[in-house]
Amino acid sequence: MKPNILKICIAMLLAGAFLLACVPQEEVLPTAAPTPEIGEAPEVAVVVTATETPAQIATVPPTPSPSPTPEPTEPPTPSPTPKPLEGIVIGIDPGHQRVYNPHPEPVAPGSSQTKQKVAGGCRGVKSGVYEYEVVLNVGLYLKALLEEQGATVVITHDTLDVDISNIERAQFFNDNNVDLGIRLHCNKSGDKKVKGAFMLIPTENRTDFYTFNRRAAEIVLEEYLRETGLSMRYKTGITERGDQTGFNWCKRPIINIEMGHLSNPDDDALLSDDAFQQRMAQGLCNGIVRFFVEEGTVN
Ligand SMILES: [Zn+2]
Repeated sequence: MKPNILKICIAMLLAGAFLLACVPQEEVLPTAAPTPEIGEAPEVAVVVTATETPAQIATVPPTPSPSPTPEPTEPPTPSPTPKPLEGIVIGIDPGHQRVYNPHPEPVAPGSSQTKQKVAGGCRGVKSGVYEYEVVLNVGLYLKALLEEQGATVVITHDTLDVDISNIERAQFFNDNNVDLGIRLHCNKSGDKKVKGAFMLIPTENRTDFYTFNRRAAEIVLEEYLRETGLSMRYKTGITERGDQTGFNWCKRPIINIEMGHLSNPDDDALLSDDAFQQRMAQGLCNGIVRFFVEEGTVN
């Protein structure tokens, strides 16, 4: 019996030990669980970061979104860029012609005073260039430049072998309803030292556009002098004339530039040069563009 009791006791002790061994192991598991939680803790932090990231992304999208916005506005930009002289009609009258016309015509409607239909013009004191050559060259350069700026340009002639009187030149501007007519001339003086450019405009009683003409003359002369570097004759560079046939028959805005003095050796050397003639035209174009941009159209 004693050995049986011992066996039973041993068995019970073993069973108890077995139970004890099993129970604590199961109870440890929950304590071991926090360990992986610690390992996950940074992941939780990442999640937090991840929740911040969307917030950051939310602030980022506004940046890319504006970039697509300018794209739709860019394509329209080229098309609505109108040229500055779109819709403007400019008349050019290069003065004179190869053969002058001495026959008389009245200087103004109803006037008994007459002048020859087309005067001969002047000539370069050193170069020998004819005024009608200089002004036609500049006129053709000017026409091309103005057309590039969107203007409709009418010119009284594009060759020297014509016969167009000053009345007919004025009527040409009327017939084409020009927004501005510009007559191109060179001047001469008995004093060879006299040089520079200036403008003629009709006296107030000879035009319906006195203020318009004066402002156009001021701006075009200013830009012409700026581009060419030529000097200005007279204090203001503007002279008013009531005796010009080409003005008195004109019912539209009109100015007349004397582009320099062919009687002056310095002016002559420049005015007779082809490259300089292009600069003269550029200066006139700059002035006409600036005038219409700043002052708007007539009417
Ligand atoms: Zn002339």
